[in-house]
Amino acid sequence: MYTRLLPGGHSGPAARGIAKVPIDIEVADPVMARLVMKFGGTSVANVDRIRNVARHVKREADAGHDVAVVVSAMSGKTNELVGWCREAAPLHDAREYDAVVASGEQVTAGLLAIVLQEMGIQARSWMGWQVPILTDGAHGVARITGIDGSGIIRHFEERKEVAVVAGFQGMHEPTRRISTLGRGGSDTSAVALTAAIGADRCDIYTDVDGVYTTDPRIVPHARRLDRVSFEEMLELASLGAKVLQVRSVELAMTQKVRTFVRSSFDDPLDPKPGTLICDEEDILENNVITGIAYSKDEAQITLRRVADKPGVAAAIFVPMAEANINVDMIIQVVSDDTTTTDITFTVGSADFERAKAILESSRDKIGFATLEGATDVVKVSAIGIGMRSHAGVAARAFQALAEKGINIRAITTSEIKFSVLIDSAYTELAVRTLHSLYGLDKPQ
Ligand code: ASP
Ligand code: MG
Repeated sequence: MYTRLLPGGHSGPAARGIAKVPIDIEVADPVMARLVMKFGGTSVANVDRIRNVARHVKREADAGHDVAVVVSAMSGKTNELVGWCREAAPLHDAREYDAVVASGEQVTAGLLAIVLQEMGIQARSWMGWQVPILTDGAHGVARITGIDGSGIIRHFEERKEVAVVAGFQGMHEPTRRISTLGRGGSDTSAVALTAAIGADRCDIYTDVDGVYTTDPRIVPHARRLDRVSFEEMLELASLGAKVLQVRSVELAMTQKVRTFVRSSFDDPLDPKPGTLICDEEDILENNVITGIAYSKDEAQITLRRVADKPGVAAAIFVPMAEANINVDMIIQVVSDDTTTTDITFTVGSADFERAKAILESSRDKIGFATLEGATDVVKVSAIGIGMRSHAGVAARAFQALAEKGINIRAITTSEIKFSVLIDSAYTELAVRTLHSLYGLDKPQ
């Protein structure tokens, strides 16, 4: 029984004849639910913390629920493993990279199973290939193609056993080799597993107690959101908020997996609900703007005096696409004499040097006078589904930023967000300004 992860939802609790868990988890769960609990690197950073994780798991198992736990590697472990691969050979075989970096999760899955057993809870570890969690062959950044949840379910039914699943890893079926899902991928493992075993919800335990209106390190008055829609969370994650891997949110959205972000540092016997990521219809209070995100991994490229004629944009951006370089904001200025123009665009800072080299090498073909680049830029974005029905939302931001003397280098907008590119020196001022402009500050 393989669950193919295709758009359109999964068999879900309703199909299994189990009452749907009420949206408010403060309301008692039904007598028996099926849960996926995911714990990130800081939550399993040492054996003591793993013991704390086990207490959270025990609470749910004692309540009679079927529990599958997905774990990350101990914090810092994956970086260390990646570092060793680079040290061994700067250019290395991606299949062997996966064999090395998947090991971090093997350790924590085994340790958590041991600690649970010691607490008297039936538990068994599962590596990706044992479940199996199947992926495509893109080693290092593999995508899950299917999960057979039947083995885990059988162990729930026959032994009331907690499944401890190594996150981040899977198996490429044709070659039977271990694969990994890209950095932060255990969030995606957890959401995919929730869909595959028809669990009622996916609880992502992390070192913060939910999703905030912005980074609390920048704005101490940032508020924790009770709920955020899938669409908004997808934008927040893509635009710089680091709580969840972007793919996990995409998957939660298409599979309609109700996902909570909550803290593993809460008292295991008295945990708080955290933030629920859910359908728009399940959100009652609607702010125009829900959150402010920022991303420092941006670089700006400006080509001056480019010929203003058909085909020039293609000459610039097709080679970028061919080199797998994501271009985000694009502005074209029409010059006075209308024979040349300036084109400005942004790329991820990791692609900056490569993008410049490609442009320089096709300089004659594109025909530009100079190339200017900047990496001391930041993209600040405001996200909210309320933007669909309100006019002038972005205009207010432009005015507020102008009043603070912040120059905007580029702007993009879409249905539920807008972004501005500014000098990175103004990051904090801009984030704070927008956060209070849209009424997101916590009442003091
Ligand atoms: N350990 C992996 C990483 O650091 C996967 C994860 O933690 O989600 O990227
Ligand atoms: Mg993570």
